[in-house]
Amino acid sequence: MGVVADMASARDSFDAALIPGMRERLAEGYARFRAAEARAIAQAAPPEAGGSLGRYRNRDCPACGTAAPAEAILTNHGIDIVGCPGCGLAYARQVMEESADAARYQASELDIEAMRLRCSGPYLELETARARYYLDRLAEHAGAPGTLLDIGCGTGTTLVEAQARGWRVLGLEPGRAAAAVARERLGEAGRDRVIEGYFPDDLPAGERRFDAITILDVLEHFVDPIGFLRVIARHLAPGGRLFVQVPNWDSLLVQLEGKASSVICTGHWSHFSPATLPALLARAGYRCLHVETVVSEADRIEAFPLAAQQAVVSRLRPGEAWAGVDRAARAARLHGLGLSYKLIGVFAPG
Ligand SMILES: [Zn+2]
Repeated sequence: MGVVADMASARDSFDAALIPGMRERLAEGYARFRAAEARAIAQAAPPEAGGSLGRYRNRDCPACGTAAPAEAILTNHGIDIVGCPGCGLAYARQVMEESADAARYQASELDIEAMRLRCSGPYLELETARARYYLDRLAEHAGAPGTLLDIGCGTGTTLVEAQARGWRVLGLEPGRAAAAVARERLGEAGRDRVIEGYFPDDLPAGERRFDAITILDVLEHFVDPIGFLRVIARHLAPGGRLFVQVPNWDSLLVQLEGKASSVICTGHWSHFSPATLPALLARAGYRCLHVETVVSEADRIEAFPLAAQQAVVSRLRPGEAWAGVDRAARAARLHGLGLSYKLIGVFAPG
């Protein structure tokens, strides 16, 4: 196989829609997790929308400061998602006060169900294949393995795979249960390499700069993403690289599902696309080395009528034919059009 075919096959290796039997194996864990998640999201909504956790405030664009438009793209859980007229970023007009936002990630029913799902066999298989693909993309734009910090390391899959490739790893994870699992998985050599805590306050005194920093499903949770990215830049060594994964706002599935999408929830304060993610990073002082979308969710997309799919594709990528392409080819084209479910990028400061 050529390099391109190898990459496509590696990308498909963590795409649940394309792996026979994977959806069935994941079904029970996801059903329990989604039920707990729905209760947690409702609880975290603004008080006027029935929530009980914390106070909210209105804000303007977190990327460029342009005033929020009056009209929302959609409203869900009492929160308006608006499109910035200045820079195009989609973001939540209302945001929760920070202290309540951080507290809700600790020791909840959701945490227990999330851990049950994330420690299950099929989930770990997908996560491992994904980590390998991501570390390959990072390696294409970084020097030899040095030090790697994973902020929000979860159960440690990225750390395990990076350590196997020769990176000296460190993980920061605010969730106690996840941090304990990650520590266990790193084995004897890595026992002290996972810290239960927050970036950058809980970094060890002697370890302040890293050759690579990874943030997977983290950036969308920050009310001030640019501020967070600027702090990260100060913790990258010369030649250091930042690897980012966020949900893709331009994903065909998210746009088809609209407010039913699990991506649109309390706690996701910004929604990035292949255009707005590099633009935000540029405002924070980074150069974009690589951007790509992965995870087709092709089976969930195919549950929608072809005409509805075509309508979204025509809106997001004008001039692109969709309905005339066969089903297998449509799944592959999602990546080329930047319409897959997850958005990843590699960035360098300066
Ligand atoms: Zn803006």
